[in-house]
This record gives sequence, structure tokens and C-alpha cells, in this order.
Amino acid sequence: MKIFETQQRLREWSDDERLALDQFQRLARELIAPNAQRYDQTGEFPWENIRALNELGANTIFVPEVYGGAPMSYRLYLEIVKTVSEACASTGIIYATNFHGMKPLIDFGNDEQRARLLPRIAEGGIGALAITEPNAGSDATGMTTSFTPDGDSIIVQGGKTFISNGDVADLILLFGKWSEIADSKKSISVLVFEKDTPGFEVLRLEDKMGHRAASTAALAFNACRVPRANLIGKPGEGLALLLASLNKSRPSVAAHALGIARAAFNDMITYMNERVQSGRRIVDFQANQFMVADLATDLAMTECWLDYVASLIESGGKDFGLEASIAKMRASDLAMRMSTEAVQMHGGYGYCKDYRVERLMRDAKITQIWEGTNQVHRQLIGRSFARK
Ligand SMILES: Cc1cc2nc3c(=O)[nH]c(=O)nc-3n(C[C@H](O)[C@H](O)[C@H](O)COP(=O)(O)OP(=O)(O)OC[C@H]3O[C@@H](n4cnc5c(N)ncnc54)[C@H](O)[C@@H]3O)c2cc1C
Repeated sequence: MKIFETQQRLREWSDDERLALDQFQRLARELIAPNAQRYDQTGEFPWENIRALNELGANTIFVPEVYGGAPMSYRLYLEIVKTVSEACASTGIIYATNFHGMKPLIDFGNDEQRARLLPRIAEGGIGALAITEPNAGSDATGMTTSFTPDGDSIIVQGGKTFISNGDVADLILLFGKWSEIADSKKSISVLVFEKDTPGFEVLRLEDKMGHRAASTAALAFNACRVPRANLIGKPGEGLALLLASLNKSRPSVAAHALGIARAAFNDMITYMNERVQSGRRIVDFQANQFMVADLATDLAMTECWLDYVASLIESGGKDFGLEASIAKMRASDLAMRMSTEAVQMHGGYGYCKDYRVERLMRDAKITQIWEGTNQVHRQLIGRSFARK
């Protein structure tokens, strides 16, 4: 583990960042990790973890100061997502989803919207991002939820599926189509939907393979009346905003996947050094060493790439979609491969719930599916090399 310890030690953080990181690492170690198995088994929403994260001001890290935040770097935010996800992937994605849902409001909302809505998030409110519909997954432009203007209101009609935090969110960043724009793709628009709006219904919570403690909801919007003041940008600006927003949430899901990968790596190495068969530790068999070498290399490289993407974003770059895709795709494939090998190295014990690797493998799978399936990311990355 020496190479990783050195790599971590040499990463530069300001004094404030180091202090914040130490606090989140301690919380992850002392509360979130010990709670993880119980929450996985019961499937309860991990309120205790979320409250503790909010006590440390987890949301304030990405909210501007004037709206109640205490902003720190995007790289630090990613590191906190990774730290929390390493301890409990469910808690990690709940926290990251606050960012995914609210960052577009921060970046593209007007001053009135930010002043009215963001303090709730800074204080620990929960956010969600609602794009997917039963018949519009990888191709989000097929969505049918409609936004119909009616004086100072917008009438929302339709449904969303697979919405992380959907049942518990205070604010949902909701995508739909503007009824008065005929061109389907050009009609995509986005608004902030506030919970307790009449007509809003949580239809179902999904019973999932992993991320058992993170809620995933099917939602219905039955003629919900939303103030027109909650529309972000202009009618029809939703698709551009969607793509810009995904570019910042994808490094975040990469950080989440890397948290799972790191947990699996640590557990695997510990076990391989302890378990003895045929008179040798299983780490001493060369076939296993080759496998560890490949995984350790990929882990080191992917963590560095994510730092690189964070630096691109922090330096004000606008065009980092492909870099974000590469991070998301490689980190999630690695989380799946790492957790599968970790189970394999635990032998039969890895298949049983006594060891954490069983949960990590279940938690890893979705990282290859959400925020654009990895097939879609391969297509985006590969296509970028085709000359016009
Ligand atoms: C636990 C969970 C949480 C989620 N959270 C959210 C959330 O918070 N907000 C939200 O809006 N959505 C969320 N999603 C939805 C998620 O983003 C979608 O499931 C994902 O985008 C894939 O869409 P789909 O499930 O409809 O699959 P489909 O799009 O139907 O894909 C099925 C298969 O076809 C493949 N495929 C599709 N198109 C192509 C193509 N062009 N080329 C090659 N292969 C292709 C896919 O890769 C996949 O293997 C969540 C999903 C889950 C399961």
C-alpha cells in the first residue's frame, strides 16, 4: 500500500481543505462505515449519516457563500464523495445527488432563484435530478413530461422513473418539454420542483440489487402547478443545460465509483495477506499478483485522471465532456472489476454477507449504468476520434 500512501500524502490541499477532509474522513470511519452493513440489510434511508454529514456542512461545500454556503474546491468535493462512498456507497450517492441536482441551479439559475432556493440546500436540504422516464433512458430526448405555461404558473404533467432521492428531496431539478415548442428536442426545458406541491406523488420505491439504503423512486406529476419563477433559463434551453450539468456530475459519479473500488481493493489485499492455502498466503501465488498489479495500476491511473478532470473544471474550462466521460467509464468499470476480483479472492466467504466485498460487488454494478451507460460513454469517446 506504500505507493498509495505516498500518492495521498503528496496531494496538495490548503489548510482549510485538509481540516475539512480530516473531519469527513473521521466521520466516514467512525459512523458511516460501521452503519453501512445495517443500512444495507434493512434498506432504511440512512438519516443518521445524512444528518451527521450536514452537521459538517457537506452541502455548503458547493453552495456559494452569499446563499449560505462555505464553498471549497471541486476537487475537495470529489474527494469527500469518494471518502463517504468508500465507507457506504448508498450514503455517498445520496450526498452526491444533492450536488447533481442543485449544481445546475447554482450555475444557470438567476439571482432571485438562487437566493430563494439555495439556502435550503446549504442548511442540509436534499436535492434530486429527474431526467429518466419509463420510455426515455439512454435517449433522454424521448421524455414526454410536459410543461404547459398558464399565466404565472407552469402545469407539469407526466412521470419520472429511477429518481435517486426522489421521495425525500426538498427540491427536484425536473426536465420536461415545453408544450408550445413544436420541435421535440428544442422544447426540452428545466425547472425546480418543490416538494409538497399538490399533485406530486411517489408511486414506488425500487427494490434494488445494491445501494439498498439509497432511495430510488418512480414519481408522478399530476397537473402540478409550479411558479413560472422556478423555470431555469428560457423555455427550450433544457437540453444544453442538461449536457453542461452532466459534465460536472459525471466526475462526481466517477469519484463515487472510485470509493467503491478503493474499499474493494483494501479488503482484497488484507484478505490475500491473511488467507493461507497449500502453505502459502494467497497473495504469494503469482497468478494473483498479476491480477493485483493490473488493478492497482488502474486504480492509481484513474485517481490521477480524476484529479486532472477536476483541475480542468476548476481552471474554468468549458469543454471537458469527453474527459468527464473517460473518468466515469473507467472508474465504474474498475469498481465492477475490482469488487468482482475481491469477491473471487475471498473464495466462498466472499459470496457470503459476512464480508463487505459481497455488498461492494452489488453496489458497483449500477455505476456502469447510471449517468449514461458505459456503452453510451464508449460511443461518445470513440466517436470523437472520427474525423469530420
Ligand atoms: C439505482 C438507479 C438510480 C438512478 N438515478 C437516476 C436519477 O437520479 N435521475 C435520473 O434521471 N435517472 C436515474 N437513473 C436512470 C439511469 O440513468 C438510466 O437507467 C440509464 O440512463 C439507462 O437508461 P435505461 O435504464 O432506460 O436503459 P436503456 O436506455 O433502455 O438501455 C438498455 C441497454 O441498451 C443499451 N443502449 C442504449 N442505447 C444505446 C446506444 N446508443 N448504443 C449502445 N447501447 C445502447 C444500454 O447501454 C443498456 O445496456 C437511475 C437508475 C438506477 C437503476
